[in-house]
Amino acid sequence: MKLIEKTKIKGVLAEWSKDFNVLCPSLTPNGDCLFDDFDPQTFTLEYRKPSMPQKRSCFPQAEKIFDVREGSFVPAYNHKKTVLFGIRACDHMGLRQSKSFFTRDIVDPFFGCRSEDTVIVVHACSWPQNETCFCTTVHSGPYATADFDIQLFDMGTDFLVEAGSDKGRRMISSSPFRDFDVDDAQERLERVKHMAFNSIPIVEEVAEAMDILKAGGANETVWEHLGRKCIACGGCVYVCPTCTCFTIHDRVTSKDSGERVRTWDTCLFEGFTKEASGHNPRPTQALRLKRRHEHKLLHYNPVDIQTALSGCVGCGRCSDSCPVHIGTLEVVKAITDHIY
Ligand code: SF4
Ligand code: SF4
Repeated sequence: MKLIEKTKIKGVLAEWSKDFNVLCPSLTPNGDCLFDDFDPQTFTLEYRKPSMPQKRSCFPQAEKIFDVREGSFVPAYNHKKTVLFGIRACDHMGLRQSKSFFTRDIVDPFFGCRSEDTVIVVHACSWPQNETCFCTTVHSGPYATADFDIQLFDMGTDFLVEAGSDKGRRMISSSPFRDFDVDDAQERLERVKHMAFNSIPIVEEVAEAMDILKAGGANETVWEHLGRKCIACGGCVYVCPTCTCFTIHDRVTSKDSGERVRTWDTCLFEGFTKEASGHNPRPTQALRLKRRHEHKLLHYNPVDIQTALSGCVGCGRCSDSCPVHIGTLEVVKAITDHIY
């Protein structure tokens, strides 16, 4: 176990930037927090839940897959070794969930190599980031339990630093990281984790909604009501750390060259499941919403705290961003209330 003064973090990131592309919380001129390349002028440790998850580090919103030049295909790998500094535990669980999707049958080389070459530094939460956080309900936070390299716990002027891998251990082996030389270091860490866990309320209705879905599904009128409200903007999907829908475009760039590009897509768009024949197996917004939320709450719900990958990691961003209030928390309430 190690300690580091918070004031020394900027110097550490500057040092790591010599060997890695360092993505970290950064303030925009209007005060929003985004994860961006390390810049000492914009880097901040005073951030709450960023409005976008960090899935973009491994699954960018748009990426070139290959170029076609004079009849030859040229793969377009352009990733660099990366340190993802300051990711919250829920978003880290989102990356783990996405990795299980992108490596399930055939390893997606783009996601796979980015993920292999990324050092994950989790910034554990000590309290909820806002009123829509429910990570403890779905066992995705407030701290990471597996698959991280380094984890930071807020101790006031210092961070308590936990290594989760040999790579992480090496990166914190020297100054300004210093040994936390007390006999009860592990007990202290467990106390910090326990206090953080207890500060984030459990949303009992989530388990209730999962049980209803497992037992045969929600009242169909729930989906019909929500389907009438949804304006299919796709916002809830784009901000979701576990959503992995994508589509492929081919673009002609000159007389004898072109490129294939992958971009985010969403199962809430009518065209996503439309088949070449014109048939659409999910022809209504109600069915599309039903499928999305059953995917989140039924097919990938957690069964084991250490290893389970949650379909919904409880970040609450869909509730924060949906213009007509159809985030997961509102859907859960509609399912459990049976009010429609
Ligand atoms: S479904 Fe909503 S709360 Fe769950 S992980 Fe996605 S954005 Fe976060
Ligand atoms: S953010 Fe709301 S309105 Fe937009 S697609 Fe999602 S559920 Fe529908």
